[in-house]
Amino acid sequence: MSKSLDHLFDQNLGWAQAKTRDDPGFFRRMAEQQTPNYLWIGCSDSRVTANDVLGLDPGEVFVHRNIANIVHTSDLNILSVLEYAVDHLEVSHVIVCGHYGCGGVQRAMVNERGAMLDHWLQPLTMLYRKHRPLFDALPDEGARLDRLCELNIEMQVRRLAATPIVENAWARGQKLNLHGWIYAIHDGLIRDLGPHLSSASERDALLSIDQRVAEPVEPQSARRRQAEDAFAGLDLSDMASPPCCMLPLAYSSSLPKTGGKDE
Ligand SMILES: [Zn+2]
Repeated sequence: MSKSLDHLFDQNLGWAQAKTRDDPGFFRRMAEQQTPNYLWIGCSDSRVTANDVLGLDPGEVFVHRNIANIVHTSDLNILSVLEYAVDHLEVSHVIVCGHYGCGGVQRAMVNERGAMLDHWLQPLTMLYRKHRPLFDALPDEGARLDRLCELNIEMQVRRLAATPIVENAWARGQKLNLHGWIYAIHDGLIRDLGPHLSSASERDALLSIDQRVAEPVEPQSARRRQAEDAFAGLDLSDMASPPCCMLPLAYSSSLPKTGGKDE
């Protein structure tokens, strides 16, 4: 064993001991079976780990990760994971979760070519080049990257919905929901981006990804949803602008901070 990595083994020992101390039956249950209800398709970025950001224990989420969370329909790796998750684990939800500031997505926006990574990112590069005038109209490089990060997720959900694995599951009546989410590293919050698909007819009714480029979706975080739920029971129709003291706490704590990206 390499001494240079002894600290990782030591940390693993500490983690296993802490787990056992908190829950003596934890590893016995883990060894018996896994029954995750979710498949997470995320980026390889070391800061975006499914279990951590979802607050889930081992055994609760099946995971596939690659650079920029791309769904290549000829990638045996992702297709094998998807098939196992859908056909054998029978997960109810497949979540494509990318993140703002993704280095892989950023790579797709530059002219450097030749690395294997550029081949991997080719679908995203093509989307960016095709709609370059719309991206160039955005205020700055950060906004362009954010927008391409969001569109990438929408595109990958569509690709997921076109795989025979998902189509067959829907055809046989299996309950299977696809989701597009985006994670913000700066605040640790996931935003719901869509699309949400649970049938081939919903997929076929979607606007094309080319149309979506011109019509951005407003990402929705849990805080935004909570604020909207809080407002749902209020009748503000006769009030042009409610005083701040009437704003529900959840809403007042979720007012935009920067650029409208946060709530
Ligand atoms: Zn990334």
